This record gives sequence, C-alpha cells and structure tokens, in this order.
Amino acid sequence: MNNAVIQFPLPQNEPVKAYLKGSPERVALEAELERQYNTVLDIPLIIGGKEIRAGNTGKVVCPHEHGHVLATFHKAGEKEVKMAIDAAMKAREEWSRTPWTTRAAIVLKCAELLATKYRPIMNAACMLGQSKNFYQAEIDSACETIDFFRYNVHYASKIYSMQPKNGATFLDQTEYRPLEGFILAVTPFNFTSIASNLCMTPVLMGNVALWKPSTTATLSNYYLMQLYKEAGLPDGVINFLPGSGALIGEVATSSKWFSGIHFTGSTATFKTLWKQACANLDAYVSYPRLVGETGGKDFIFVHPSADVQAVATAAFCGAFEFQGQKCSAASRMYIPKSLWPAVLKQMKQFASEVKMGTVMDPGNFINAVIDEKSWDNIDGYLRYAEQSKDAKIVLGGGRDKSVGYFVEPTVIETTDPHFKSMEEEIFGPVLTVYPYDDDKVWEAVKLCDTTSPYGLTGSVFGLDRLEVEKISEALSYAAGNFYINDKPTGAVVGMQPFGGARASGTNDKAGG
Ligand code: NAD
Repeated sequence: MNNAVIQFPLPQNEPVKAYLKGSPERVALEAELERQYNTVLDIPLIIGGKEIRAGNTGKVVCPHEHGHVLATFHKAGEKEVKMAIDAAMKAREEWSRTPWTTRAAIVLKCAELLATKYRPIMNAACMLGQSKNFYQAEIDSACETIDFFRYNVHYASKIYSMQPKNGATFLDQTEYRPLEGFILAVTPFNFTSIASNLCMTPVLMGNVALWKPSTTATLSNYYLMQLYKEAGLPDGVINFLPGSGALIGEVATSSKWFSGIHFTGSTATFKTLWKQACANLDAYVSYPRLVGETGGKDFIFVHPSADVQAVATAAFCGAFEFQGQKCSAASRMYIPKSLWPAVLKQMKQFASEVKMGTVMDPGNFINAVIDEKSWDNIDGYLRYAEQSKDAKIVLGGGRDKSVGYFVEPTVIETTDPHFKSMEEEIFGPVLTVYPYDDDKVWEAVKLCDTTSPYGLTGSVFGLDRLEVEKISEALSYAAGNFYINDKPTGAVVGMQPFGGARASGTNDKAGG
C-alpha cells in the first residue's frame, strides 16, 4: 500500500538553450532537421492507442517552402469521432481512479523526455511545420511545454491539498473528481506548448480527452502523442483527431458525455463551439466547463515621457517575432507625435538588420506566416492600407507567396484611430500606429481602452511613474496580461499566468 505524502515543490523554469554553432544541442537539432526534412510521414488518427488510417487525407508542408511536403495526415470523419468518444470513456474507467501521484509521475516523465530525447524532435517539427526559427521553437515546443508539465504538477498538488477543516469528532475531506465525461481539446497552430497544455492539464487531473489539433501544427502535435505514449500515458486517455474542426466540434459537442472544452484559437471559433454547447445543453449529463483563450488586438501605449530606444525595441520584437503570430503580438500602437519620428527611425534601422527566409538558416529573424489563407488575409489588409487616404505604409509592406508565405515586418501609420487595422486582429507581422497630439494623452488612453472588443495583452511605456500608474489603472480591463516598459509578448509559466478577458477569452490563466 502506498501511503506516502509526496511533495511537488515549485520547479525552476527550463533554461533556454543557445544553439551556438557546434554546441551539442545545435548538432542534434541540425541532424533532426535534416531527418524530418527528408522524411514524408503518414500521420494516422490515434484512437484508443490504435493507429487508424481513415483514407481521407491532407498534406503538411513547410510554410517557408510550401512545395515541400513533410507528411500526409488522415482526417477524422463522424465515425472516428464517435469511436474516439467510446475509447475515451472506456479509458476513463481506469484513469479517473489512477492515483494522482501516478498521473503526476507520467506528466513529469513527459517533461524529462522533452528536455532530453524529444527536444530536437519537437523543435525540428515545430520549425519545419510551423515556420519558427531556432529560438522561437526552443522557447515554445521545448521550454514552455516542459514548464507547463512541471508547474502543473506543482499546482495540482496545491489544489489537492486544499482541504476543509476537521474537528475532534469529525473528519471532512474534499474529493477533486475528474469530470464525468470527456474534454474536447481544440488547439491552435501557433504554440505547441498550448496544444500540449490544453490536453495534458485536464488529463493530469484525471480527465480523458479528444484532441483536435490544428491542421497546420499536425506534425509537431503528432510527435507529442508519441512522447505521451513513451512517458506511459495509457491508451485512450488522449485520442488524436486531425481533421475538420467544424465536423469534429459538432459531433463531439452533441455527445451526452461532452463535459468541457479546453480551447485556444480565434474568437469566432470559440463562440461557435459555445453556441453548439448551449444548443445541446439538455442532452448532457453535466453542465460543460467552457474554457477558451481567443483573439487579441494587443496594444502598446506610449506616454510622452517614454524612452525612445525601449519603445522601438519592444515594438519591433513585440510585433514581428514569429511573424506577429503570437496571440499577444503588438498590433496597434498609440504614440505621441513628438516621439514617433525617432521611434520609426530606430525601427527602420532594426528592419535593415534582420533577414527573412527559411528556418534552416538561423540568421533569419523572420520566417513565413502559417499558410496561404493567412497570407491572403494579411495581403488584404495591406492592400486596403495602400489604397486608403487615412493610412500609409511607412515600413516594409513587401510580400511574396511564390515559394513560401513571406510578409516583411510592416508598419502602417494612420491618422484615423479607428482605422480598420487598428481594430481588427490580423495575425501577421503588421503593426498599425496612431500618433497622437502630445497634449491629448487622456483622449488617447480612452481610445486605446475602447477601440477593440478584445482584452488580451497590452503595455504602457513611460518614465513618469505617477502618470504610468494612472494610465495602467485606466486600462485595467483592456488587457489580461499587462506590461510596463516591456513588450506585450513573452509570458513565462509561473511568472506571468496568461489569459485575457472581454472577447479574448475566459481568462482562466494558463501557467498559474
Ligand atoms: P482557429 O480558431 O482558426 O483554430 C483553432 C482550432 O479550432 C484549430 O484546431 C481549428 O482546426 C479548430 N476549428 C476551426 N473551426 C472550428 C469549428 N467550427 N469547430 C471546432 N473547431 C474548429 O485559430 P488559429 O488560426 O489556429 O489560431 C490563431 C488564433 O488563436 C488567433 O485569433 C489568436 O489570437 C488565437 N490565440 C489565442 C491565444 C490566447 O491565449 N488568447 C493563444 C494562441 C492563439
């Protein structure tokens, strides 16, 4: 009988490796890039631990070289989604009763495997399939994913230890039960760590899941499934279902065992799933838990006292790293007219120093956007700006999709604070800037707060502490994650629990 009370103390964050030329991690990664680049995988569905080849297939390509196929993948149909529900419910019988420390041990094993054997595998898959450079892949598919595994075990131990008061003649206890059905985890393309977290967090707490990965992240997400299996996750606890989100969402949300959704992606998709859950409410065994992190229109607000160099650096990195495809990427900036010329000059200088191209060359700061649909969407906004009398492109604007889906880091300057690209999420390397009159700070703060329906991330720049304090207060509800004199991207597990409100999500704060 195991009656140990095991402690899971607060872990350290996984150190980010540097990948210097000739270093062991660089050598291993380059070999793995070579291997994956020269392999065409056939990715099956994984239901109840069995590989299923449904026959209806799609292709995984490199976004920076879209003629290069990395894998074909099989798509789930209605039959396979129903099989997955059955497999999950069967696995649930044992998994929900498995001691939580055993579940925790499996999750910690996932962390260990990812920190060692799987590190080059996951990073290479993320680089090739999602077009991240060395650094962006390392902080996502290695470090953040590892951090989620380790920190969530620690957080779980705290949750389980929250117990009611006892007396001399009575013994109370709270049992933290897994949900009675399954979780639908619907995950985005842009962070492998989020994809992993949306599945593994409920699973750590004894739940079972259907996982709908993003089509454009199928490669790295498939390798994650292999990692989970190798770490000892029993068959059927997570069932891997690439395919049409609309179809999988519809079938899963109409099952009586649908117990919750763990979602990250666009606001429109989450609203669709929420409505489907409402429409089927009478059919469910329990009220489903709906957790979703969604879109953003993240801002930088600059006070006249701000430091020019700091603003330019934050705007450039915050808007353009990973091609502006972080949900937290800066996409609108309010800046005093007096500061804008100097900030723009510095941003132009940075732009002249960075290179754009394939992920195989670590010197490329900018790689490709995720797919043609995304490229076309960005192109539409840039065309709109090019033809508008209220805006002009003052940096970048070049784009080409002939070989890969490339868009240069682009800045649109506008005289209209309600210009289309000041309000709508673009999800590409495009920052729209509204220079305001220096004596109209508070009008600009109001604009910043009320312009977009979102409330994900934002930052304020200024060296006048009291003014910065007041602006921060006024923008309280404009952002779930808020930064002072720093870019609005880069939340670290255990340091900046992440999530937004308003149209940006249910603000449940992953990583905390
Ligand atoms: P998306 O909404 O297009 O797709 C997300 C997932 O939903 C994918 O797996 C997709 O296949 C699936 N899906 C699409 N339509 C569906 C439907 N009708 N029913 C069920 N599932 C469906 O989003 P994306 O392009 O993968 O990711 C980008 C979006 O995600 C951006 O809006 C970004 O802001 C947001 N995002 C938010 C956060 C956050 O923490 N708030 C983090 C990352 C990304």
